[in-house]
Parts: sequence; structure tokens; C-alpha cells
Amino acid sequence: MCGIVAYIGKKDAYPIIIKGLKRLEYRGYDSAGVALFNGDLHVYKKKGKVNDLVSFVKGKNVDGHVGIGHTRWATHGEPNDVNAHPHTSDNGRLTIIHNGIIENYATIKEALVKDGHVFTSDTDTEVLVHLIGALQDQDSLELEEAVRIALSQVVGAYAIVVLDKNDPTKLVAARKASPLVVGIGQDEFFLASDATPLVGYTSQVVYLNDEEIAVVCNDGTF
Ligand code: GLU
Repeated sequence: MCGIVAYIGKKDAYPIIIKGLKRLEYRGYDSAGVALFNGDLHVYKKKGKVNDLVSFVKGKNVDGHVGIGHTRWATHGEPNDVNAHPHTSDNGRLTIIHNGIIENYATIKEALVKDGHVFTSDTDTEVLVHLIGALQDQDSLELEEAVRIALSQVVGAYAIVVLDKNDPTKLVAARKASPLVVGIGQDEFFLASDATPLVGYTSQVVYLNDEEIAVVCNDGTF
């Protein structure tokens, strides 16, 4: 198991994400990371506890009203800084957090490598974000459409959240056989593995169904 916390709205995303990841610590994990957008994308990740991530990030740019955070329980690739989430697409646009296992990642990776994709981690997750990025580039697709097509090619279990730095007004989330909840606030949304990170922010919660995709936007639309 691992933990997912993401935020989009008017508040500072970083403290909400860190607090939420700490509330999910009971699920177990070996590393933690965040990606925040504030004019540019900042990704910080670290093996160890959420507090190790917090120490690492101290003094760095953590501004931004949109962000995604993750605690990892390694299934593919050893627990280290590089394999920690979020992972970034080849085109540098997308970052993803993922809970679960992409069972057919090796086949997909082989095809992507043939097309010139370069991978930096040993994870199954990085394969998924490269695939989404490749589909997005190929046909100039909306992010949610590229996510939908990519997931139709995937065998396995996932809860994912994807942030596109070319369109940071929305987050795209999806799940299959791994939990993901959407918390609805006033012109803001929270995404999390369970409702505990949402306590104190909103009691309006939607549990995503298997194979459902959610698009949450900073203008309050869902
Ligand atoms: N399979 C992914 C990895 O090894 C995600 C593991 C998790 O659920 O934390 O990075």
C-alpha cells in the first residue's frame, strides 16, 4: 500500500499535501515525494519518511496552488530517491503519482524504448507516464483522453493522479482496484487514498468507481 494526496484550488498545496501524507503513514511506505506547479514544475522526492522529505525540501520553492504527493511502497525497483514518485514523462510535461502495479509494463516499455524513450527509474509507473505523454504528443490529445487511451492498454491495478505543466488548471485522476477519493471543497478539490487527509477541509467526498476517470479543475468544475 502507499499513499496519494493531491490538491488543486486557491490554498497553498504543499502544507495540505504534507499533512495528508502524514495522515496516510499508517498504510506503510519507503519513500515520499511531491510535485508542485508555480509557473514551473518543481519535483522533490526522497527515500525514507515524510519528515526526511520535509527536511530535504526546506528552503526550496514550495509555492503553488496545485500539487501531487505520494508515499511509495516499492514493487518495481528498489526504494531509492530516483524510483520514488512523482515520475515525469519524456516530454517533461507530465508528472504522475501511482499506487498499484502495471503488470504489462515490460511490453509497453519495450515499445517505448524502440521509439526512443529514455527511462530514468526502474519503476512500472514511469512506463505509464511515458505512454500517456507519447499519446498526448502523437495526436495533440487532451490529457484526460491520453490517460483514458493509455489505461485501456494497461493490465494491473492503479490509483493515479496526473499533473500537466502546460495545463496546471486541472488534475486528472483514475483508479482500478486501488482506492481513490475526491474531496470537494469551495472551488477546490482534494484527491487521496482515503478520506483521512480531507478531515478538517471538507466532508463532501466522492469515492471513485473502478475504471472511472475524474478531472478536477481550479475553477471548481469536476
Ligand atoms: N508499482 C509502483 C512502484 O513500485 C507503485 C508502488 C506503490 O503502490 O507505492 O513504484
